[in-house]
Amino acid sequence: MLNIILLGPPGAGKGTQAKRLVDERAMVQLSTGDMLRDAKTSGTEMGRKVAEVMATGQLVTDDIVIGLIKEKLTQGAGGGFIFDGFPRTLKQADALGALLDGMGQGLAAVIEMQVDDAALVSRITGRYTCGNCGEVYHDITRPAKVSGTCDACGSHDLRRRVDDNEDALKTRLMEYYKKTSPLIGYYYAKDKLHSVDGLAEMDHVSQAIAKVLDKG
Ligand code: AMP
Repeated sequence: MLNIILLGPPGAGKGTQAKRLVDERAMVQLSTGDMLRDAKTSGTEMGRKVAEVMATGQLVTDDIVIGLIKEKLTQGAGGGFIFDGFPRTLKQADALGALLDGMGQGLAAVIEMQVDDAALVSRITGRYTCGNCGEVYHDITRPAKVSGTCDACGSHDLRRRVDDNEDALKTRLMEYYKKTSPLIGYYYAKDKLHSVDGLAEMDHVSQAIAKVLDKG
């Protein structure tokens, strides 16, 4: 079982690469962002509160996301789990370590996707996704072939995230540097860290990730 973490600021390409790994290696993507967006539409009080926090770009509490991950881990994964957007704090990282330990599993690698901040603004503000299959698009670098229609599944449900605007992005970046970037040192010290150039072409990033996974 290859369990991996994709680590990087918003817009680094974690979701895109995770989806490729799901297709190519039958791994299971665990995106806490996606889970929280689902909770948002559930109409519960918790969902409403989460939505408010997410819209500003701040992190949701550790207890909520750890609870979500715990639930998913019990469902098992054939080719291994891809943790996408989790952990985002040291507390979450410790909790994940303990959960995997308890299952007799570990982490094969933590892949840090390096990008510079200037690139993130244009990546994030041009981004939209298919609400049906999750395919990721961009106004300039990867527009849908037929405007308004998903290339992958034909759905017309193409959406922009409410937090993909410049204001929320500033908060998301600040949260990343304050709370998430310490994980780079944390996993380096555990001999798990591998860094790839997230600004390279999508296929090259995939190749760099494959190299890390196939080495182990
Ligand atoms: P993402 O889709 O990964 O960019 O996440 C979108 C938003 O969901 C973040 O800006 C946070 O508000 C929240 N979120 C996602 N994952 C986590 C996490 N592991 N810890 C705390 N908040 C999270």
